[in-house]
Amino acid sequence: MNKSKRISGFREDLCNLCGECLHLCPVLKLPIDEAKEEVKNLIAGKESRYALTRCNTCFSCNLYCPQHANPYNLILERWNDLYKTRGAPPLYRFVCPTEQSNIWQLLNVFLSNQERKWIYKWMNYVPKPNDTPLMIGNYTHLFPFILGGSKLLDYFKPIDRIDQWEGAAYLYQGGYLDLVQRIAQRTKNDFDSWGVKKVVACLDAVDYIFNEVHPKEMGVEHAQDFVNFNQWLLGNINSGEIQLKNQLNMDVTVHDNCYSKTLGGAYWEVPRELLKKSGCHIIEMKHNRKDSLCCGFGAGASWVKNISIIFDIISQGFKKFKEAEETGAKALISYCGGCIYLLWAAKELKRSKIDIFHLIEIIRMAMGEELNYPYDHKRRAWDIIAIMTYSLFLSIIRKNFFISKITYDKELSTFKPKKYRLLTLIRYTFNLSLIRYVFSKCFLILMKILKTR
Ligand code: SF4
Ligand code: SF4
Repeated sequence: MNKSKRISGFREDLCNLCGECLHLCPVLKLPIDEAKEEVKNLIAGKESRYALTRCNTCFSCNLYCPQHANPYNLILERWNDLYKTRGAPPLYRFVCPTEQSNIWQLLNVFLSNQERKWIYKWMNYVPKPNDTPLMIGNYTHLFPFILGGSKLLDYFKPIDRIDQWEGAAYLYQGGYLDLVQRIAQRTKNDFDSWGVKKVVACLDAVDYIFNEVHPKEMGVEHAQDFVNFNQWLLGNINSGEIQLKNQLNMDVTVHDNCYSKTLGGAYWEVPRELLKKSGCHIIEMKHNRKDSLCCGFGAGASWVKNISIIFDIISQGFKKFKEAEETGAKALISYCGGCIYLLWAAKELKRSKIDIFHLIEIIRMAMGEELNYPYDHKRRAWDIIAIMTYSLFLSIIRKNFFISKITYDKELSTFKPKKYRLLTLIRYTFNLSLIRYVFSKCFLILMKILKTR
């Protein structure tokens, strides 16, 4: 039984209703008086005119608040209240590993044999007390080729537990706070039963969730040390343990993900150092670090209509692309595996020429490892666009729902897929470049009609 107590991250006692948070917000940009009014309404639990239906859950307002009152957490609390009354939208099953037709279950249809081998090994390995598990995580699972086969994995025991929900990092961003607490307890039970002392998280988001959110907001203390993968990489490159033989000499721009804005920005500089050590020249986007725009994923948190969610997400992602393209850089670099899958889908739909790499891929190229770029990413982007399209069709006939189970059901096992004939047909048609072109055009037209912001 879970006896821990959840504590809100919002500090009402510190808030003086100045409105700066929503006034400076790069998405809402509310006039100061409206910003003050909106904060007052959010605190009182009254109707919100803007934040709950337009916020991209990007964390920036926590950095803007001069009082350190954590206004972002106020928005999360109100979304948590909303979830209790209206549930989650049908399309949200997409990212719920315990619901039928989630993205991991559907993607299994398209995994290559090599990807299956990697994933099977990572999903079934049970760590021993002296192991250092590397949490592959739900989003890197979608792109196993980013890490699969790399020498970097020799330093760890990679494990992939989809029902650890990335420590509930993405549920937290959607304001599903009571579920976050249950998952915090679930992950604690896993780690304790393995007896491990150290855990390495691929994502800064997961590092932050385990180190900060679980103990401080969810009342769940972990006994393990959590190691940040990017910091581990930098330390080992600096010590000469990992050698970067190839200087890439590439102009790049950097996407700072939402979670990178936590801890006062402690996550921003390590990826930039790693890029410089790989021979990349960084050209910053207009909005970077504390003002960075979301990849689009966060637009789903402030959903208004189920039918509009995908269009809202991709349209917000396009804003990021516009800024990235304006820099003239050859490539956009993400150090978050969660952003990568949406950025690649948006790139293909926008037919953007800019390359997109995960930071790990940059390091691997600098180490002299071969990647099958861009083929693997392009193939996966259209797998995911097919899954999004299929899920959108399914969601039209489904109702809002409440997430009851947090533990993965064997029936949903990634290795027992159904046939999904319609999904396979959609994906098959995307092999034709003319169909991809027509689909992208139609998507853009529908986006103009259906997006809510
Ligand atoms: S989380 Fe980001 S988008 Fe949402 S209100 Fe704060 S600054 Fe604005
Ligand atoms: S949360 Fe901070 S920035 Fe927002 S109104 Fe309160 S004190 Fe001002």
